[in-house]
Amino acid sequence: MLDTRKREIRIKADAVREKCKVSRYGIIDLFKECERLGYKLIRYPLGEKADLGFALKRDDDIVIFINSSCRLSREIFTLAHEMGHIILHFNGESRFVDNSTTIAGQSDDEKEQEANYFAAYLLMPSDEVDRFFDLELSKSNGENLTGLDIARMMSEFSVSYDMVLNRLESLQKIDSNQKLCLDTERAEKRVGNLLRSIGGNARLNSAGNEIDIPYEYIDYVIYNYNHKAIPKETLEKVLECYHLSLEDISDRIDIMTDDNDDLADLIGGLED
Ligand SMILES: [Zn+2]
Repeated sequence: MLDTRKREIRIKADAVREKCKVSRYGIIDLFKECERLGYKLIRYPLGEKADLGFALKRDDDIVIFINSSCRLSREIFTLAHEMGHIILHFNGESRFVDNSTTIAGQSDDEKEQEANYFAAYLLMPSDEVDRFFDLELSKSNGENLTGLDIARMMSEFSVSYDMVLNRLESLQKIDSNQKLCLDTERAEKRVGNLLRSIGGNARLNSAGNEIDIPYEYIDYVIYNYNHKAIPKETLEKVLECYHLSLEDISDRIDIMTDDNDDLADLIGGLED
């Protein structure tokens, strides 16, 4: 990636970050920010082996899907990566699907690398990392960093242990040897334990399995059901995602007179 392009991406990520609510160093809740930016965000547990996420443009909507079977820190990175595609690449293409290869930076595709660069800068801008080193660690480089320091950064920036190590290496705070040592320390002590011992956000390290679907999708599904475009089973499945049943929306759905069960209910009701 050319330096001029990198700078362009930093400017765009910075503009997004400026709109976000930030705690001392990191964005507090990127999921909320994404909705505030007008994107339709869907989080659903598709299973660990499924794709990590996608972004697509459909009519006037920009939809981001995130697989919530992943660890929360990974979900957040995937979201930042998808936002990168939307902001950097949605003028030419209107659909990106991501798996562990594209997100882990193992893809040669320039757009994938750009989306990862955007995500890294959005979540951990270099000046905020410098500030953390100065104010919290009282040092300017990564000498004598411990796993606990990495866990503190994870918690402050809402990112994974891996992401902190990769970011510190690319910002030349640590070299590959230090990275290896910190990686070994992680394997010995486990990230969850490190996070707990600093009173950090242990949720980052476990799968949320969240289900989060924009509310207006219910209207769309009910409309399709009332116009007989989808069967009752599909309607029920979608409602399940919102923790709702048919009864909860009974005033909004047309009664299917050809449904034998409903007819039986009706006759039963008359007999009473
Ligand atoms: Zn991608």
